[in-house]
Amino acid sequence: MNCRVCGNSLFTGRTVFHCACGAFTHAGCWERHVVEAHKPPFVLGTISLNGDFVPRKSRAGIKESLARGEPAGVK
Ligand SMILES: [Zn+2]
Ligand SMILES: [Zn+2]
Repeated sequence: MNCRVCGNSLFTGRTVFHCACGAFTHAGCWERHVVEAHKPPFVLGTISLNGDFVPRKSRAGIKESLARGEPAGVK
């Protein structure tokens, strides 16, 4: 049996991830499988001084603003 991500064989006794989609991967290849195969939605952001999550404007949004000649962050 081979790893879905890197194609190398999975070894007996080593940790293997079995994804809900049916794919088997090495433990170290798991994150790559999830990102590449399932593209989970996520928001980039930062944590403010009082511990709140502050989402950053998406790159696409900033690019659109620039294309229209508006300052980023203004709608
Ligand atoms: Zn692998
Ligand atoms: Zn999967």
